[in-house]
Amino acid sequence: MLSLRQVFKEGVRGMMKTETFRALVVDKGDTGLVAAVKPLTVSDLPDEDVLIQVDYSTLNYKEGLGFANRNKIFRILPIVPGLDLAGTVVESKSCRYKPGDPVILNGWSVGERYWGGYAQMARIKSDFLIPLPKGMDTLKAMYIGTAGYTAMLCVMTLEQAGVTPDGGPVVVTGAAGGVGSNAVAILAHLGYDVTALVSARKAFTHDFLRELGAKAFVGGDKWAQTPSPLESQRWAGAVDTVGTTVLARVISEMNYGGCVAACGLAGGIDLSLTVMPFILRGVSLRGVDSVWCPYERRVAAWERLAKDIPDAALKKINRIIKLDEVPHYAAQIMAGKVVGHIVVDVNA
Ligand code: NDP
Repeated sequence: MLSLRQVFKEGVRGMMKTETFRALVVDKGDTGLVAAVKPLTVSDLPDEDVLIQVDYSTLNYKEGLGFANRNKIFRILPIVPGLDLAGTVVESKSCRYKPGDPVILNGWSVGERYWGGYAQMARIKSDFLIPLPKGMDTLKAMYIGTAGYTAMLCVMTLEQAGVTPDGGPVVVTGAAGGVGSNAVAILAHLGYDVTALVSARKAFTHDFLRELGAKAFVGGDKWAQTPSPLESQRWAGAVDTVGTTVLARVISEMNYGGCVAACGLAGGIDLSLTVMPFILRGVSLRGVDSVWCPYERRVAAWERLAKDIPDAALKKINRIIKLDEVPHYAAQIMAGKVVGHIVVDVNA
C-alpha cells in the first residue's frame, strides 16, 4: 500500500485502481447494519469531480442515529458515512480546485446520500466543498466540524435578530453536547452572558462548561414538563439543540423581542406551544439548518469560526478517536455518554 503522503506527492495516477486505502463501510447484514473498516481502491469511490486525501472527519448525533439504524439516515447502502471531512485535493476536474488545495466539507447530505469522510480518500462534488479558511489547519477545521459550524449559524441568526451581548442572558440547551458546547464557547467569547441547560445526568459537566465561559446553569424536572404559555422572562436569546418541552419552555421564558435559534432534536421532535410568546412578547423562533445552508452563508460562518472560537476552548471540547472506534462511540452518543465533540482521525 502506498503511503498517502506518497500518493499526494506522486499524484493519484501512481496508485490508481489497485492501491488500497482504509474506509469504514456500512452495509446490510442479516440482522441489521454492519460496519467494518475495509480496504478500498480509488476506483471503488463514487464518480465525483474532486478526489481528496482526507485527514480528519467527525462523529455527531446524526451518525449516532445512522449506526443505530434510526431516522433513515443512511439512504444508500453500502455507504462510507461521515458528514464532515477536511483534507487536501489530490485530483480535480473542477476549475475551482486544484491539487494541493486544502478543503472542508460539511453536510449536503454527504454521509447520508453520498459517500463521506470515514475514509483515507474521498470523491466529493466540488459544489459541496469550501476552501479551508486562512489561519486554520485541517485538525482545527474538524475540531469545529458541523457542530461548531451549526453553532456559529445559530449565533449569526441571533445577531441578525438583534440579540446583542448587552441585551441580557442567553441560554444554550444541550450545552454539554457537540453543538451546545461550541455555542457556549462562541457566545462567551463574543461577550454574551451565557447560561447552560444540562440534564441531571450531565450535571458533572458544569466545570467543563464554566471553563468554556458559561456563567450559570439551569436544569431539573420542570424542563421535561410542558410550561405555562408565558413564564417569567429570562432570556434575550437562545440556542436550542433539544426540541420538545425544552424548546417550549425556552420560548415561554423569552424576553420581549427575544429570539430562539432552533437547530436540534436531541430530546424529541414534538413542540407543544401557544402563540402567546409570539403575539404578546414579539418573540421570534428561527430555524437553523447546516446541511443545505447556501454557499455564501456557510463560507461566512467559517470565516467567523476562524476567529470567534478560541483554540483553548476547542481543545477542551474535543477528543480524537480512530476510524475503527467510530461504531463504539456512535453508540455512546446515543446512550448520552459523550461530552463535547469527537474528531475521527481516519489515518489512525
Ligand atoms: P450531542 O449528542 O453531542 O448533544 C446533544 C445534547 O442534548 C446532549 O448533551 C444531551 O444531554 C442533550 N439532551 C438530550 N435530550 C435532552 C433533554 N431532554 N433535556 C436536556 N438535554 C438533553 O448532539 P449534537 O450536539 O451533535 O447535536 C445536537 C442536536 O442538533 C441533534 O439533534 C442534532 O441532530 C442537531 N443538529 C442539527 C444540525 C442542523 O443543521 N440543524 C446540525 C448539527 C446537529 P443528555 O445526554 O444529558 O441528555
